[in-house]
Amino acid sequence: MRNVNCVGILTSGGDAPGMNAAIRAVTRSAIYHGLKVKGIYRGYRGLISREIVDFKSKHVSNIIQLGGTILKTARSPEFATPEGRQIAYNNIQEEGIDALVVIGGDGSLSGAMQFAKEFDIPCIGVPGTIDNDLYGTDSTIGYDTALNTILESVDKIRDTATSHERLFFIEVMGRDAGFLALNGAIASGAEAAIIPEFSTEEDQLAEFIKSGFRKSKNSSIVLVAESELTGGAMHYADRVKNEYPQYDVRVTILGHIQRGGSPTAYDRILASRLGAAAVDSLLEGQRNIMIGIENDEIVYVPLTRATKNQKHVSHSLIDLMKMLSI
Ligand code: ADP
Repeated sequence: MRNVNCVGILTSGGDAPGMNAAIRAVTRSAIYHGLKVKGIYRGYRGLISREIVDFKSKHVSNIIQLGGTILKTARSPEFATPEGRQIAYNNIQEEGIDALVVIGGDGSLSGAMQFAKEFDIPCIGVPGTIDNDLYGTDSTIGYDTALNTILESVDKIRDTATSHERLFFIEVMGRDAGFLALNGAIASGAEAAIIPEFSTEEDQLAEFIKSGFRKSKNSSIVLVAESELTGGAMHYADRVKNEYPQYDVRVTILGHIQRGGSPTAYDRILASRLGAAAVDSLLEGQRNIMIGIENDEIVYVPLTRATKNQKHVSHSLIDLMKMLSI
C-alpha cells in the first residue's frame, strides 16, 4: 500500500455553496495530521495544465462563509480522454501528490473513479452539488443552501401570486433529480412539484389541475425541475394557456441565484465533517470511496456505487406535499 504524505485537492463540475468549507476542512485536517496539501485550481483542467499550489493553513483562512470555490471549478473534456488522464497522472507524480480528494457532483466523482481504475492513486470523493443526487449520502454539500435560497424566493413570489390570484410555475435546478423541486415545494408550501423522476409515469400537470388547483384557493405555486424530462416551467405555462385558458399563469426561472450565497450552518458543518473524514479515510488506507452521511453518521461508499446507483425520491414526500396543500 502506498503511503500518503501529500494530498491534492480540487473542486470540479458545478459549484456549490459549502465547497470552501470542505476545502478548508481537508486542508486543515491534513496539516493537523502532518500531511502536505496541494491545491489544484480549476478542477481536472488544472490538473492537466498543472495549476497546482502548495497549500498552508493560511490559504484557507476566512473562507468558511464564502459561496463558490476559491479553487475555481471547470469542466474538462480532455480529462474524459485516456490521453488527458495520462498527462494528469504524470503531473501528479511530478508534484509528489500521493492521493486526490475530489469535491464535486456525479460527473466529477465518475471521473475520479475512472482515474483510480487506471492509475495507482487513491481517490476520495466528497459530494458537492446543489442537486443532492448522489447515492449513498443523505445530503450533499450545497443542497441545503440552495433549498433555502429557493424558499426565500418562493415566499416573495407567493405575495404577488396571492394578490393577483395567479398560477405561478417556478423553475428550479435539478437536471436529473427532483430533490430541490420537491423539498422546495414542501418547505415553501407550494401546491405541487413537477420532477423528472415521475415525468414519464404520469401527466403531472393534469394530476395537479385535477386534484389541487383552486380547491380552496385562488392562487397556486408549482415548482418545476429544470430538466429535459419535465420540459421546464415554460412548457407547463404554455400548456395551461392552451388547455386551461381560464387561469392567469406566470413563470419565474430562478436560475443561477440557486448556486450562490453564503452556505447555511448545515452545509458548513456537513462540509467540515465530510472534508475531515476524507483525510481520516486516507490515513486508514481507504481508496476510491465517496464520503457520505447517513443518519448523521459518516459512511464510506465505493465510488462505483455512489455514481452508478440512482438515489430515489421518496413517494411519502410527494404524498405529504399533496396532503398539506389541500
Ligand atoms: P458534476 O461533477 O457537477 O456532475 P460534470 O458532469 O460536468 O460535473 O463533470 C465534471 C468533469 O468530470 C467533466 O468535465 C470531466 O472532466 C470529468 N468527468 C465526468 N465524467 C467522467 C468520466 N466518465 N470519465 C472521466 N472524466 C469524467
